[in-house]
Amino acid sequence: MRRLTDVGALREAYDLVIVGAGPAGMAAAVEAAGQDRAVLVLDENPGPGGQIYRAIGTAPLRDPRVLGAAYWEGAALADAFAAAEVDYLPGATVWHLDDALEIGVSAGARSAVLPARRVILATGALERPMPLRGWTLPGVMSVGAGQALLKAQGIAPTGRVVLAGCGPLLWLYAAQCIAAGAAPSLILETTPRANWRGALRHLPAFLATPYARKGLALMARVRRHLRVVPHVAALAIDAEDGALRVTWAEGTAFTADHVLLHQGVVPTLNLARAAGCAIAWDEGNACFAPVTDAWGTASLPGIAVAGDGAGIAGAEAAALRGRLTALEALRALGVLDEAGRDARAAPHRAALARWSRGRAFLDALYRPAPHFCAAPPDAMACRCEEVTGAALRDAARMGATGPNQLKAFLRCGMGPCQGRMCGPTITETIAQERGIHPREVGYMRLRTPAKPITLGEFAALRKTEADRRAVERR
Ligand SMILES: Cc1cc2nc3c(=O)[nH]c(=O)nc-3n(C[C@H](O)[C@H](O)[C@H](O)COP(=O)(O)OP(=O)(O)OC[C@H]3O[C@@H](n4cnc5c(N)ncnc54)[C@H](O)[C@@H]3O)c2cc1C
Repeated sequence: MRRLTDVGALREAYDLVIVGAGPAGMAAAVEAAGQDRAVLVLDENPGPGGQIYRAIGTAPLRDPRVLGAAYWEGAALADAFAAAEVDYLPGATVWHLDDALEIGVSAGARSAVLPARRVILATGALERPMPLRGWTLPGVMSVGAGQALLKAQGIAPTGRVVLAGCGPLLWLYAAQCIAAGAAPSLILETTPRANWRGALRHLPAFLATPYARKGLALMARVRRHLRVVPHVAALAIDAEDGALRVTWAEGTAFTADHVLLHQGVVPTLNLARAAGCAIAWDEGNACFAPVTDAWGTASLPGIAVAGDGAGIAGAEAAALRGRLTALEALRALGVLDEAGRDARAAPHRAALARWSRGRAFLDALYRPAPHFCAAPPDAMACRCEEVTGAALRDAARMGATGPNQLKAFLRCGMGPCQGRMCGPTITETIAQERGIHPREVGYMRLRTPAKPITLGEFAALRKTEADRRAVERR
């Protein structure tokens, strides 16, 4: 690997650019390397690993029991990535991608635009927002943020700690905190009781997967250490004497120092959407996801999406999908013919089928209640522009039929996060207000820059001949 430190060290052009160095991006790079093609991996984090294997090379917690075996399994992939014949630029934020396969990247407050022949977006997932009254108060954060602190800095919340929400990550984090000697005080579990009806038929397939036993043992361990309140259907957080008052049913409350929220993860859509790739509603995971084929190829030629960015399926599946998109890229770059691609893909496809078996059960069981996905009137819906659920609902009643009209009304999605934190909330809230399915509401259009860059960086961009001609034409 050629580990770069700034955009100045980038080549003029690359055959394959991979955005994201999580399991999908690292596996894609390992599969594509050493084929006499220029491969570049760009990732905004200081080191490889993505979400699950965050800080795998530098994690301060050396006791493997804290983060668990699944985390340390990432070390082998990170080592293979480090040995791969690719260029890698960490601390690099990709803010632009278009249908001409030009990529805008910023690192160290300097930007560059570079051309690629193929692009793989392995940008992963984000936590689904959980817009509650009080979710923006100091002391309230997401479980994923708490876990990032644990993985990268070895920090766990202490004092009176409440975890609220649903999904495998919430239980995993509780177990990691317990193993770190910082057991939370309470879990308010929001999985609707009714979800079991839809999940049960997928249970046999789930029980046949390698992670069912681990997951059930982990949940049992957590229940031995702390109180779990199941099927919580209402939640609100209020500031009270420097602490947080969490209420979840008439007359029941808990005073906490920290509240960590989580209700599953959804694909990051920003780059794919801003480039113009088609997205569609994924009923299984109740969210929008890029439209891709069996090789991860997206609707725009030359762009593929791999890993949880293409639809939530977990870390093992992410790595396998990364390999499949890389093999298709090698076919498109003339390295492999179809037969060669298919032969190399066969073991990955078989393993992907095995790892995907339990997904339907997890999706059905941990499908968040719609009312926890929409912003109640007294909750902040768009944090960047400080738009409340009440204002959003008024606008929907006054004619903002979808997220894009809403931008004109309230600027939702036009702040620094470019809709990452509010996109799903806006769709769900408008759907609830209008009494229609989120699929019909659609998702906000996104534009460049998909992540903030300074005007100075933009102005300092090396102008191409095409840029100069475009300016002269004006
Ligand atoms: C907060 C969080 C914590 C999670 N923790 C776990 C866990 O502990 N165990 C588990 O099994 N699963 C966990 N998951 C689920 C996780 O999605 C998958 O397990 C796995 O990490 C997916 O791999 P991936 O390669 O698709 O994406 P990721 O691992 O998310 O990697 C994507 C990478 O792309 C980078 N990136 C995104 N956009 C850009 C951009 N514009 N420019 C540059 N870089 C970019 C990201 O920073 C990240 O490094 C977590 C998910 C989230 C959201």
